[in-house]
Amino acid sequence: MTDTSADLVILGGGSGGYAAAFRAAELGLSVTLIEKDKLGGTCLHRGCIPTKALLHAAEVADETREADAVGVKASFEGIDIAGVNKYKDGIVARLYKGLQGLAKAHKVNLVEGSGTFVGGTTVEVDGTRYTGKNVILATGSYSRTLPGLELGGRIIASEQALSLDYVPKKVVVLGGGVIGVEFASVWASFGVDVTIVEALPRLVPNEDEFASKQLERAFRRRKIAFKTGVRFTGAKQDDNGVAVSLESGETIEADLLLVAVGRGPNSAGHGYEEAGVKIERGFVITDERLRTNLPNVYAVGDIVPGLQLAHRGFQQGIFVAEEIAGQSPRVIDESGIPRVTYSHPEVASVGLTESQAKDKYGADVTTFTYDLGGNGKSQILKTSGGVKLVKAPDGPVVGVHMVGDRVGELIGEAQLIYSWEAFPEDVAPLIHAHPTQTEALGEAFLALAGKPLHVHS
Ligand SMILES: Cc1cc2nc3c(=O)[nH]c(=O)nc-3n(C[C@H](O)[C@H](O)[C@H](O)COP(=O)(O)OP(=O)(O)OC[C@H]3O[C@@H](n4cnc5c(N)ncnc54)[C@H](O)[C@@H]3O)c2cc1C
Repeated sequence: MTDTSADLVILGGGSGGYAAAFRAAELGLSVTLIEKDKLGGTCLHRGCIPTKALLHAAEVADETREADAVGVKASFEGIDIAGVNKYKDGIVARLYKGLQGLAKAHKVNLVEGSGTFVGGTTVEVDGTRYTGKNVILATGSYSRTLPGLELGGRIIASEQALSLDYVPKKVVVLGGGVIGVEFASVWASFGVDVTIVEALPRLVPNEDEFASKQLERAFRRRKIAFKTGVRFTGAKQDDNGVAVSLESGETIEADLLLVAVGRGPNSAGHGYEEAGVKIERGFVITDERLRTNLPNVYAVGDIVPGLQLAHRGFQQGIFVAEEIAGQSPRVIDESGIPRVTYSHPEVASVGLTESQAKDKYGADVTTFTYDLGGNGKSQILKTSGGVKLVKAPDGPVVGVHMVGDRVGELIGEAQLIYSWEAFPEDVAPLIHAHPTQTEALGEAFLALAGKPLHVHS
């Protein structure tokens, strides 16, 4: 058994792990990064990137179908799923190559294999021990299912949904959160008959109610069926299909059942608990500086309770690398992490929902909603939706919520406004280019500052 030492040993090469590796290397630390599958993890290979490629193919399908409405002659002939997959896989492959190049350029010692944390600051891979001055646990997450609902055959998770080599006719999507809504959106654009089943009372239940209402309205228009506030009771599959039963007594027949009920922390089987790492409900518990209960052992990404998003993982990875290098970075504000659901239409938000703001600041929270009906660019794009601002009493804007095609691209400005604790009066004088969708944000701030421009009262 050889013992190999480095300043930093990282277990897991997904968004959190590789961001920590690159930042630590930039700061002059020697880094060993252990990855059992592919550098890039869930986001690059089975998450963010391939889903957004499918969503773009879906958008092109919709645009082709609706080309006539803008006077362009085109005919939609169908989805060539092999072509869609080739496009998607090509993007992933290119980014993967780029990432491998970056690891090399940063002189990260990339170890291929499954690692076990054996205590102290040591991780073992195939009999070789890697000891760091510090260790970061970054083993990510897996697709969850419900008790009694086994994945397999026609009952699939997002991993399988991403690599289908056919377009199903009818799908039931269990879960109306981000992943469920994005797949429902893709499939509907591909001509699939989709029904979403969500136990909570609304789609995207973690978002402001305004966003759920807008999305539900758009999905109704798109003929995406959804049943909210209803529990799933069971599924039976055979050669012909899958029958999904609900507690209402209803049964829905489909070709596939996509289980999108959230992601569980991948913290079992890697030695964590045995080594004394504090774990609750499967998550690795850290303090706000991402320290576990063990000295010099940190954790980042989806195994740490909170939003399971790639950019949170990146930021946490950077944070820990800087912390270890003695830079005392500023603690990450979880509410300042932007959230985007890339469906058609998109949902984008940062900060508190109206109800969270009321819990925190009391009933005097102010809100303003600007309808995209008044935004020229949104009309040109034929999208509807709106921008909702949530403002603390005598305080800054504490939440921005947007629905509409492409509003995900506006989240950068919303995030700056939130993070800099801007008052409407600070933002109102800033000029937004015309005609852009950023004007919708500008208009909302003008109105909240008491000087509405393109607003019908
Ligand atoms: C369908 C889908 C769509 C998504 N879309 C988005 C999106 O649009 N935007 C967004 O921000 N987020 C999105 N996410 C979430 C995002 O993918 C995750 O938040 C992110 O990947 C978490 O990064 P991580 O480093 O914590 O874990 P992961 O990316 O899961 O990486 C963990 C890595 O650790 C490795 N590993 C595990 N155990 C071991 C071991 N014992 N030894 C060695 N290696 C090990 C794994 O192979 C994996 O590569 C999506 C997720 C899914 C499933």
